[in-house]
Amino acid sequence: MGIVADRGDIVDGLPLPRFDGGWVWLVGAGPGDPGLVTLNGLAGLRQADVVVYDALVDDRVLDLARPGAEMIFAGKRGGRPSPTQRSISLRLIDLARSGKRVLRLKGGDPFVFGRGGEEALALVDAGIPFRIVPGVTAGIGGLAYAGIPATHRDSNSAVTFITGHSVTGDIPDNLDWDALAKGAPVIILYMAVKHMPEIARRLLEGGRDPQEPMAFVSNAATDKQTVVECTLGTAEDAAKQVKPPAIVAIGPVVSLRAGLDWLGAMKGERALDPDPLGLGREDAV
Ligand code: SAH
Repeated sequence: MGIVADRGDIVDGLPLPRFDGGWVWLVGAGPGDPGLVTLNGLAGLRQADVVVYDALVDDRVLDLARPGAEMIFAGKRGGRPSPTQRSISLRLIDLARSGKRVLRLKGGDPFVFGRGGEEALALVDAGIPFRIVPGVTAGIGGLAYAGIPATHRDSNSAVTFITGHSVTGDIPDNLDWDALAKGAPVIILYMAVKHMPEIARRLLEGGRDPQEPMAFVSNAATDKQTVVECTLGTAEDAAKQVKPPAIVAIGPVVSLRAGLDWLGAMKGERALDPDPLGLGREDAV
């Protein structure tokens, strides 16, 4: 029970951490399905006085908040610019100083391309106590809802997470795309739909096979989940049909979807292939 048992907190009859006034919890909401919120995340939502949430947080997760909790939207809506990072951090600090239990709710995991680190450092600077509640990141949990594992023993022993969108709005220029093309067997991209043509071009220039399987998973783990499968060579065209937010997977693990699309099978949309990589499973465990 670790941290929990240290204080012996009990919330709703379970050994979960108590949320004290004046604290900020940075909580990962996961990619969509409320069942992917952690127990600590749920405990936070059930105790918070105020929830400050981002655009990517699923409504069904918001519904888990304590009735009566104040809900503050801190994302982009209707073409209006989002509040600046600084103004969000200041808001969290003000709310905490007023003695409230402040839950900062972010899509996926707060520390994965989510600026959770920046917000937490602003809290440190202001002397506000905080807790980090990790979440299921879209690049792992979202892909799993499309039947794509981040790693598989037969295909890759490493996985690389990349953002397609840097601070400047362009693709990150501090990455060695040639090295990634050669050394990253599976690449998982966040915020990459807009710049997909450029990213695909750089990987192909770095020697990546145009036949390499690839998938875009939009609104993963939500009721609106859609998957577009293509190859690296056809990525530019495929990206045109994709509606953000989407998570992108490039590499052999995408082929495993033919065997692991459990959601498709559950809906009766497809039969699963037990040998999607065509290995003839004699050595299977
Ligand atoms: N902290 C988040 C990522 C925030 S960056 C996490 O850990 O998942 C925002 C990007 O995340 C989106 O542009 C998209 O690439 C990805 N993303 C987040 N939720 C998603 C979802 N439900 N389906 C597909 N992509 C998602």
